[in-house]
Amino acid sequence: MKPLKAILCGMIFTPTEEIKNGAILIDGARIAKVGTRDEVKLPAGTTVVDNQDRIVVPGFIDMHIHGAAGHDLMEASPEALAAVGTYLARHGTTSYLATTVTATLERTLHAARAIGEMIRASQTSHGAADKFAGAHPVGIHFEGPFINVKKRGAHPVSQIQKPSVETLSRMLDAAGGAARVLSLAPEMEGALAVLEYARGRGLRVGIGHSNATAEEAERAIAAGATIAIHFYNAMRPFLHRDPGIIGAVLTDDRVSAELICDGVHVESTAIRLLVKSKGLERIVLVSDSSSGAGMPDGNYRLGNFTVHVAGGVCRTVEGNLAGSTITLDAAVRNLAQFTGFSYQTCLRCATLNPARLLGLEKQKGVIASGADADLAILDRNYYVTQTYVRGRPVL
Ligand SMILES: [Zn+2]
Repeated sequence: MKPLKAILCGMIFTPTEEIKNGAILIDGARIAKVGTRDEVKLPAGTTVVDNQDRIVVPGFIDMHIHGAAGHDLMEASPEALAAVGTYLARHGTTSYLATTVTATLERTLHAARAIGEMIRASQTSHGAADKFAGAHPVGIHFEGPFINVKKRGAHPVSQIQKPSVETLSRMLDAAGGAARVLSLAPEMEGALAVLEYARGRGLRVGIGHSNATAEEAERAIAAGATIAIHFYNAMRPFLHRDPGIIGAVLTDDRVSAELICDGVHVESTAIRLLVKSKGLERIVLVSDSSSGAGMPDGNYRLGNFTVHVAGGVCRTVEGNLAGSTITLDAAVRNLAQFTGFSYQTCLRCATLNPARLLGLEKQKGVIASGADADLAILDRNYYVTQTYVRGRPVL
């Protein structure tokens, strides 16, 4: 038997509780016990890592990310996943959904198949999981191809398709059980049938890249859509006599909102409106980052097209925003700064909330006994100094 490991620290944010002078006992990939240093008894032979006054939080979960560190996840190669995983872990993210961008069906199926295989291998054997450098992919998020051309953002017009159950079933079969989220524009003809089919196959459904009216969005929420994709971005604008998808999402508690909290995609006043309407328990921070994240200014790939990064802002040749270069550690700090809420209060938006939305809250997004030992260690300014993925230090 491997010896147990204990992480001691000044503070644990679970994230809903604060534990001063905390101790986390780790057995292999899992958390065995959590409490104060007095409460957690360390068996003889336990390896102790004392982080002194540092803060330990659950590793972040990024449910919407296309790439980073010069790699696009559509490459679907072990190298691409390793590069992205390593970069994310440096910023405290321990799990993510590999997110597709609208592309040819052939390319989407290829990516789904390859990523699905890598995810299944990581779940069935611990040895294979250890092959992933850094953060682990825990599923696939299909963003497109069933989106509205009018709100396509950076997605290429030529590959956008009419919602089709048959196409989706091919995508889900290719992913082999690894698909977790489908994003679509609910106002498109046939979208509700696709939404219901996706729900039936166990997916969470997001609405986005959408020109939906409030009624059309409400219909999708009633049919089981639970996420608004990068809320405010690539959506019909809110008008007081035409509140649209934004009005529907702001006023309906059945749906959570993804937020790109980089200060570029959404202005801080709009963020405060979102927080007032939905409460922090219904906001999920996402990076939506592309391969240019963590790289110098220049041209990078997003799917099969080029995006230009200048000063950390990522745009297509037409000037549309094309994903971000943010990471979730910075997104939580920004959310606290923009709203005035404490870091601890905002932390759930990158940990517990995405875990719950994805049905992973027993394993991920929390520091609790039995959960995976996915942890980020922060200094007093909330910058990441070390990350553990399933009990293994990765920095
Ligand atoms: Zn998007």
